[in-house]
Amino acid sequence: MQSLSNRKKVVSNKKMTFLERIYLPAIFSGMWITFKHLFRKNNTLKYPEEQRVLVPIYRGLHVLKRDEQGRENCTACGLCAVACPAEAITMVAAERVKGEENLYREEKYAEMYEIDMLRCIFCGLCEEACPKEAIFLTDRLLPANFERDEFIYGKDRLVEPVDQRIDISKRQHTGKRSEL
Ligand code: SF4
Ligand code: SF4
Repeated sequence: MQSLSNRKKVVSNKKMTFLERIYLPAIFSGMWITFKHLFRKNNTLKYPEEQRVLVPIYRGLHVLKRDEQGRENCTACGLCAVACPAEAITMVAAERVKGEENLYREEKYAEMYEIDMLRCIFCGLCEEACPKEAIFLTDRLLPANFERDEFIYGKDRLVEPVDQRIDISKRQHTGKRSEL
């Protein structure tokens, strides 16, 4: 019967030859393979000095966008959290009060918004679900860290700074966002 992978090997119990018993040919053959690799092109990159060229549809670190007037787009509707298969998004909604019209675009906003990057699988469903063009995944890499707490990203790291907007046009979006 043929195996699924077609890589089945018949185990033989034949007696080992003298050369097989001393293992030296096998050891030299392994060393020869290792030696050959010394002269091959190295596939590893010295990150972060060297960076890999990412594919245009790469989904990296999220950003919470502001509108042209610098107001936060997010209205804390919760659709991104519902769409998230990893349950990585947590938020607390608050009502905008008089005088905050320049901070938040809608009457309701996210007082607290967090993404647990250790849970996130960068699927992009939050971006697809958002009706307010508030959350986007970018072409930025998630920085490494030794502390688990550092992977909980709050608004301080998610909302783009007013004077340092995050360019989301570099990433090629799929689905309904391809026109953006
Ligand atoms: S990219 Fe996917 S897993 Fe990550 S927060 Fe968005 S919906 Fe959740
Ligand atoms: S990011 Fe978008 S989907 Fe998520 S709560 Fe804000 S407005 Fe709603």
